[in-house]
Amino acid sequence: MVMAPNDIDTPPVIWGCLYAGGIVAPVNPALSIQDLHQQIERSEARGLVVHPDCLPVALKAARTANIPLERVLALRFDQNLPIKDGISTVEQFIANVKVPPAMVRYRPRIDSQRDTAFLVYSSGTTGLPKGVMISHRNVVADVFLQSLVERAHIDWRQDRMLAVLPIYHIYGLVCLVHAPLYLGTTTIYMEKFELPRFCRSIQDYQITHVYVAPPIVLHLTKSDQVSDYDLRSLRMITSGGAPLPANLITELYDRRKLAVRQAYGLSETTSVTHIQRWDAWENGIGSNGPPLPGIEAKFVIDGQRIAAIEEEGELWIRGPVVFNGFRGEPELTAGCMMPDGWFKTGDIGHEDKHGNMFITDRSKDLIKFKGYQVPPAELEDLIIKHEVVEDVAVIGIMNEGLASEVPMAYIVVKPGTPEDEATAKLVVDHVKNQTVNYKHLRGGIIFTKEIPKGPSGKILKRVLRQQAIAEGVRR
Ligand code: AMP
Repeated sequence: MVMAPNDIDTPPVIWGCLYAGGIVAPVNPALSIQDLHQQIERSEARGLVVHPDCLPVALKAARTANIPLERVLALRFDQNLPIKDGISTVEQFIANVKVPPAMVRYRPRIDSQRDTAFLVYSSGTTGLPKGVMISHRNVVADVFLQSLVERAHIDWRQDRMLAVLPIYHIYGLVCLVHAPLYLGTTTIYMEKFELPRFCRSIQDYQITHVYVAPPIVLHLTKSDQVSDYDLRSLRMITSGGAPLPANLITELYDRRKLAVRQAYGLSETTSVTHIQRWDAWENGIGSNGPPLPGIEAKFVIDGQRIAAIEEEGELWIRGPVVFNGFRGEPELTAGCMMPDGWFKTGDIGHEDKHGNMFITDRSKDLIKFKGYQVPPAELEDLIIKHEVVEDVAVIGIMNEGLASEVPMAYIVVKPGTPEDEATAKLVVDHVKNQTVNYKHLRGGIIFTKEIPKGPSGKILKRVLRQQAIAEGVRR
């Protein structure tokens, strides 16, 4: 398991582990002890490589998850490292390993199609996060297929990318770690997004291309600070991970002459499957362009009929980027993977007559806050444990000011509990205290008398989303 913000020292650790036949599970550096403990148990990680800043959390989680201390390595030396606790850095570890001469050239055999390279976490169409098994071949395929369309527009001698998206998410892992390595593009790593530093880096390093999530497009469009910097080196911004409102694309171009195109993909498809082409991004504003070469896509109605042009259906994808299944969950895998290789994304949309793909809704139970997955089931499990809560359902609502969906909870309170601000705050704080920042209930709480459920007790999220629209809290 690798736990670090974007850092130039992580890719070599990742590749070293892969070379040795290991599986890498990258995790968010902001995880709490409890979240990390769960992640270690779920993935059955056997060792951790950790950025010095994450060590206090990692050490506690490793202890409770029974990972011996000598299997927790610091990414590098730092003055504040708790060396006294017997922690080694990656460098010290390598220096101390005694490799028998016969083993020096040894390399385990890897079946690139079958063996997992990365284990990333996604809640899929419903429920709690599951380990998405991404093979070596999946990564090679996605990088190669992307490069087929990007290569004509990228010159590795001149182009420079800014890696601001987290590389612990599949989008960054593929587009900012592996694709630049293959294309040879210089890549500048940024630990986290801060608008002035982001703009200054583009100006100082003459960045030509950035991958972002929609909230960064919002900042670039609206913030007056942006005018203090010269961003003319920037030839293309690629936004993905969540839907980007089309009006922001035109506004950013009109205001600053910056071009944004969209890309679409999922953890289960090793990131990008669709991307607008550099030379045609104005032709399908709001779309994600056509699929990458070698990837098949179709929109399906009621699981059977292929949708006509402009007709809405569920997006299904087939190709060498489709994952190998959820780890240890054959039934859940079978639920989204057809026997002939089509993967059901749980996203709703259509194709226009030019072959551009538009995503308009989601049939799966997932919220994306700024590109991060927030599984409603996880929040519901947590909220129902609070003493004032009788029943709960969590949905996503759009927050225009953040250019992102945010989680919102419908709550039925226990008899005798007042439906007032103090009760709402109790529940919001309960979530805040026990989850990582991006899962907080930024959409707040609505009290209700009953959560709509189907005959099997399943929450009818579609009904709730419509209710939220009727109440004016959701578009
Ligand atoms: P993840 O597995 O975290 O990458 O999340 C994948 C999900 O993010 C997709 O199934 C979509 O619901 C959403 N998503 C990613 N890219 C886009 C996009 N360009 N437009 C709309 N939704 C997107």
